[in-house]
Amino acid sequence: MRNNNFKKFFKLASLLFVINYFNSPVKSSSALAAWALKSDGVLELKTKSDAKLKAYFQKANKSYGDRFWIDFKGELSNPRKIKGNGPIKEIRLGKPKKGLTRLVIEFQSNKKINPHNWKLIGIDKNNWRIKLAAFPKNDFQTISEGNFSSSSNFKKTSDYFFNLKNKALANLPNVKKNKFYVVIDPGHGGPDSGAIGIGGLRETDVVLDVSKIVTNILKKKGIEVKMTRTNEIDLGLGARVSMANNTKADIFVSIHANASVGKKRNINGLETFYYSGWKGRLLAEKIQKQIIKVSPGSPDRGVRRGSYFVIKQTNMPAVLVEIGFVTGKLDGSRLSKDMHRERVAYAIARGILEYLERIG
Ligand SMILES: [Zn+2]
Repeated sequence: MRNNNFKKFFKLASLLFVINYFNSPVKSSSALAAWALKSDGVLELKTKSDAKLKAYFQKANKSYGDRFWIDFKGELSNPRKIKGNGPIKEIRLGKPKKGLTRLVIEFQSNKKINPHNWKLIGIDKNNWRIKLAAFPKNDFQTISEGNFSSSSNFKKTSDYFFNLKNKALANLPNVKKNKFYVVIDPGHGGPDSGAIGIGGLRETDVVLDVSKIVTNILKKKGIEVKMTRTNEIDLGLGARVSMANNTKADIFVSIHANASVGKKRNINGLETFYYSGWKGRLLAEKIQKQIIKVSPGSPDRGVRRGSYFVIKQTNMPAVLVEIGFVTGKLDGSRLSKDMHRERVAYAIARGILEYLERIG
């Protein structure tokens, strides 16, 4: 019996699907951008376009129910377990070894799965689909992480930013061209959406949009800028730090939005953290002063010392900016508006330019 099972596993394992794409621009981060196990039994995956997927199935044994897993290139930043429902016992995201991300779907032990007709279908370079089972209606609720629609109802300012704002650009301080190097770090990304606010407003979308505008402004001012991420990828904190430390960056600016415990609508405010040094503090002060100006009525939570990994481990003056609470009534509704995100981006850019002007 045991032997038979063993054989069967190998037969099933040979069902393994391998699909290759080449090029790997960001080696350190997971190729998995989003996933959803839908109530109809379809597993949808969104990956980077260089993804190389391997799918496996293993029949239940003493310790596990039937399991299906897919390996992705690149390492996950935070391994995690998600409780299943209905026929799904648990979903796990792990790093079985260095440089690999594994998404495991474990079925309940009483649920017998037949993988013989499974087919992993590539919809396009970034999207994949596989039907795992026909779940009875109402038996199972969709489980998912990350965002599939690249054009969600969240309107990105950064997309139409160019060309419009020459006057506003001219009003910003001028610094010596081709002298400075800035790293902009949009917080979170990919399956890690960061804070979720009012109306589903996601921190990852807000901060990526603001970061892109800041980057565009600084570039137009003759500054070399590198973003740690420019799309929805899962990027670990260590990778962000090494991206900065491996350059001659003058400063590092991480952009985040806040959430209050219990999503209290009356908690709003902006704050900027630095870890150490007068330069870090000065940069934080310059930015904080500007972002407060464009956020009237929202509390000034001030410049503070904080030992967040990305500002502690970076070698250059570094700050972490919290541009408001996505869970706050005032901040959240503002951050969902493109005009406000643009104002915040200008404010951050102005703070950075003032700092660079001062440092010389
Ligand atoms: Zn954050």
